[in-house]
Amino acid sequence: MLRPHIVILGAGFGGTYVAKSLVPLAKKGEIDVTIVNRTNYFLFTPLLHEVATGSLSPRSVAEPLREVFAGSGVRIVQGIVDEIDRASRIVKVKAGGHAHDLAYDYLIIATGAETNYYGIAGAPEFALPLKSLADASNIRNRIIDAFEHATLEDDSEARRSLLSFAVVGGGATGVELSAELADLVHSMSERYYHPADGQGGSASMPSPSITLVNAGKELIEMFAPSLRVAAAGRLAHRGVKVMNSMSVTAVTKQGLTFADGSMIHANTVIWTAGVKAIIPNFTGNQPTLAGGRFAVDSSFRLLGEDRIFALGDAAAYVDPRDPAAASGKARPLPMLAQVAERESETVSANVIALIRGRRLRDFHYVSRGSMVSVGGWFAIGEILSVRLAGRLTWWLWRTVYIFKFASWRKRIRIGFEWAFELVSPRDITKL
Ligand SMILES: Cc1cc2nc3c(=O)[nH]c(=O)nc-3n(C[C@H](O)[C@H](O)[C@H](O)COP(=O)(O)OP(=O)(O)OC[C@H]3O[C@@H](n4cnc5c(N)ncnc54)[C@H](O)[C@@H]3O)c2cc1C
Repeated sequence: MLRPHIVILGAGFGGTYVAKSLVPLAKKGEIDVTIVNRTNYFLFTPLLHEVATGSLSPRSVAEPLREVFAGSGVRIVQGIVDEIDRASRIVKVKAGGHAHDLAYDYLIIATGAETNYYGIAGAPEFALPLKSLADASNIRNRIIDAFEHATLEDDSEARRSLLSFAVVGGGATGVELSAELADLVHSMSERYYHPADGQGGSASMPSPSITLVNAGKELIEMFAPSLRVAAAGRLAHRGVKVMNSMSVTAVTKQGLTFADGSMIHANTVIWTAGVKAIIPNFTGNQPTLAGGRFAVDSSFRLLGEDRIFALGDAAAYVDPRDPAAASGKARPLPMLAQVAERESETVSANVIALIRGRRLRDFHYVSRGSMVSVGGWFAIGEILSVRLAGRLTWWLWRTVYIFKFASWRKRIRIGFEWAFELVSPRDITKL
């Protein structure tokens, strides 16, 4: 009998963890598993802000898929998913300049999300996203360039403008990035661009300014008020100016314009304000979407589909045990790595159940807690309803993240880079 072929689209937190759960059956020869991904690596997005600000090198936060799945029997295809043909059960993939057809028996869509600019004028052109490794390197290069150009500027106002940075988005990524950005630019300013030793050019260098712009009333609204206050205090201590309740209406080369007509100057604008699901094209009718994500049933199958599952950022899973589910008012689970990772356990169990003709199971999400770093030596977090803030939380945050990496090679590399950063300045090589 032919082995069922499971094709997984996307090797992020959802797809990679589904594939990992299927390895034992693939090794036994009961199933064939193929994973298709745009890049040849798994990207650990929660540490991307550290690449953007020079704490970690780009390669530290990427794990090659062939290394993750070495000897597992999982086939890796580096390519771009072009179209899904449900009638023929084929995924069309573009790879190496050619189109390839991949036949599947069961399909798992975990294509994640991309930056959402919400149609704001100028945002795609002038704001820098933080979603990929290239984005992170781009931000870092832009910061270094801003300092270099400032040294050549004689006009003090132009210098000030070059050293003005704005981060849009008051969620966890915006907070973590702003704090690390502040650590980076202030240390660069003091160490390398000081006029006293001639490095700052002829005129004195202004102190860099960092503004964190948030449309909501408060930063990181998912945390308890005491933790939000602690994070806001820490940002203020690092010199980050926080602007809450400010809706951006336009981004220009000069900075940001707000709904109340006011504006701020910012030479570098970084966009962390939101993401939208990546929905691959389907031959014929598109499946049902909910809020721009795949609408899935309680087993994670697309509505009306027997053999196609979706999870992670691409899927809007509403917990059937949520009290608001009956009235249709329950919100889908948040777009988080830990949600995608936990969903993967149920998706892989359900694909196997389907193959074996067993009953599919529902998923019930209970958060294990979350943590947010606010620059070096400080983090806040809520774990099993215990609220934490300070240095120990920061160590815990780093320890948890190091052990999220599959290989010891990456763990040691990150541990080494972090340890090195404690005793030496950040690397400002422009790549
Ligand atoms: C900067 C940043 C920081 C974050 N920090 C945290 C955090 O601290 N904690 C947390 O819980 N969550 C965090 N998140 C959110 C987390 O990254 C996502 O929720 C999680 O990655 C979702 O997993 P996923 O598998 O659905 O998508 P992803 O992990 O994004 O994976 C999707 C994969 O699909 C691939 N893909 C997409 N389209 C195609 C295509 N057409 N063809 C081929 N491949 C394709 C992509 O290349 C990618 O590898 C952060 C996100 C960002 C951007």
